[in-house]
Amino acid sequence: MTPRKALAIRTLGPYGGSAPGYRMTTFLIDGETALDAGSLTDALPLAAQRRVRRVVLTHAHLDHIASLPFLIENVYGRERPLEIIAPPAVLATLSRHIFNDATWPDFSRLPSRAKPTIVYRPVPAGRTIRAGGVSFTPLPVDHVVPAYGYLVSKPGRSVLFSGDTMPTRRLWVRARRARDLKAIFLEVSFSDAQAAVAEASCHLTPQLIRGELAKAPPRVPVFLYHMKPPSLPRIRREVAALHEPRLRLLESERSFRF
Ligand SMILES: [Zn+2]
Ligand SMILES: [Zn+2]
Repeated sequence: MTPRKALAIRTLGPYGGSAPGYRMTTFLIDGETALDAGSLTDALPLAAQRRVRRVVLTHAHLDHIASLPFLIENVYGRERPLEIIAPPAVLATLSRHIFNDATWPDFSRLPSRAKPTIVYRPVPAGRTIRAGGVSFTPLPVDHVVPAYGYLVSKPGRSVLFSGDTMPTRRLWVRARRARDLKAIFLEVSFSDAQAAVAEASCHLTPQLIRGELAKAPPRVPVFLYHMKPPSLPRIRREVAALHEPRLRLLESERSFRF
């Protein structure tokens, strides 16, 4: 029997905004799949960028796709196209508003239609797509635009990413069915002092995290990410005051093997 291969997750960027030292949301899975693309080109040297085979997207907000136009330039001319995987609504936003020959070139036709630099791979919500030995299942969450969390799995192990969301339900229903769940990566964007902003922009604060924990599968460690840099000091204090031992704030370059 071949040994089960671990699921390697490297946090390239755990933040929901940009400032020196604060990279925007990006996780690298097994060195070849990016989950979101806020900071791939800041975090990875060119050679490592060329090893990225695909980018899986939670939604099309800029803090999740900002480095994608530049990654595409850096891998231009490579033999295999870069796959962009997401539910159809997310891909439609990218092709309409980013790779539309106005904001940035349409790399799905460059250098030619027959040999493009990027290919869009739509995956409907709730369906599972396998890529590089890893399964990705987009699960709808509640945000200002169509947005998805992901259940990311290998045999015997899975982890959950919330993506950007306000208090949500379906994600947790599915997470509770995952018997092999090793970790939850959950967004927290604003401090409780900014509850009105969080509500208007459909994000979570530490107080709202408490409610999400009650819906989440018990005993699984929860790593909080997507903090907006100006809110970070306050979020840190408020999360500490929750006295929830399974909560941790995620930092850049934290690596996991599950
Ligand atoms: Zn975001
Ligand atoms: Zn967002």
